[in-house]
Amino acid sequence: MHNGPERRRAALGRELANLGLDALIVTGSANIRYLTAFSGTAARLLVTKERVVLVTDFRYATQAPAEVGSGVDVRIERANLWDGLRQALAAHRLTRVGIDQARTTLADMDQLKPTGLELVPVSNVVEQLRAIKDDAEIAAIGEAARLATEALAAVEPGIRVGRTELDVAADLEAALRRRGSEWHPFQSIVASGPRSALPHARSTARPIQAGDFLVMDFGAQVAGYCSDITRTFVVGAKASERQRMVYEVVQKAQMRARDGLRAGLTGREADSLARDPIARAGMGEAFGHSLGHGLGLEVHEAPRLSQTSEAPLPVGAVVTVEPGVYFDGWGGVRIEDDVVLLENQAVCLSDGKTDLMELT
Ligand code: ZN
Ligand code: ZN
Repeated sequence: MHNGPERRRAALGRELANLGLDALIVTGSANIRYLTAFSGTAARLLVTKERVVLVTDFRYATQAPAEVGSGVDVRIERANLWDGLRQALAAHRLTRVGIDQARTTLADMDQLKPTGLELVPVSNVVEQLRAIKDDAEIAAIGEAARLATEALAAVEPGIRVGRTELDVAADLEAALRRRGSEWHPFQSIVASGPRSALPHARSTARPIQAGDFLVMDFGAQVAGYCSDITRTFVVGAKASERQRMVYEVVQKAQMRARDGLRAGLTGREADSLARDPIARAGMGEAFGHSLGHGLGLEVHEAPRLSQTSEAPLPVGAVVTVEPGVYFDGWGGVRIEDDVVLLENQAVCLSDGKTDLMELT
């Protein structure tokens, strides 16, 4: 169980040597969980060449030592986690200590000032490691994808005209929990009719009407790992000609991206797999977001599949493939599956069943 975090800490140690750092202050609960298996929400972590110190509070006094195993020293702080971290810093002979510039506030920096240490701003050190998943992580995301697919299948028969978006979201979230999802990785989106044109719609009390598109974007969480799936239905009627035409453009683009996706492509090249055919169909303007994102302990993490990402996608990355088009006042379509990038292929972890379903 602790092999994963130990291996990751060894990889981090090599990275710190490359960066010329004596230690790294790690914040952000996903980063800390990745390196220690600690699943609580309040903690600071100090990784030095010799020791790893987790500072957390009284609520986790029992849980933390049980989760982290013998390779990590746990320090329980009653008042301020920074007090414990400062003491941990003082206990080691350190000069250059890395700190994540995106996750550190000015208030945090004030807390660290008394140490007198040279704090070196770094970016994405742990996040880059997290982008490459091991087998256990891929299995957890696969299980989360399976739970999500099962939950959707369980609620589909209850999706009909007159029920509200919130009704359907409640059914879906209950079904996810009953099947073993630890939590909802993000606010489930159930968006009907014209509201399906809002890529990040909140579910509302709007009753579903006959002929509506219904976009459902949701996921499950297993051992901390997230899935993220979107399906678009037509409810209470056969799809109109325009609905069918728009849906097919997105579906073909999504299939093309899933088939063509490879480790080694840049984020931009991956994004273009779906963007080019959508643009050729005259809907380029309606595809306003990027193709996908990494998936792991957080629902949005490295790598990015976007027009602005020139970084090559690593083997072992798990990413979403989610083209969508949105027409204000009319509706939208998004189709999202989760894939893992192996040496020479991309393997779908979700069910990949994307034919247009008319729920009548
Ligand atoms: Zn999603
Ligand atoms: Zn997504």
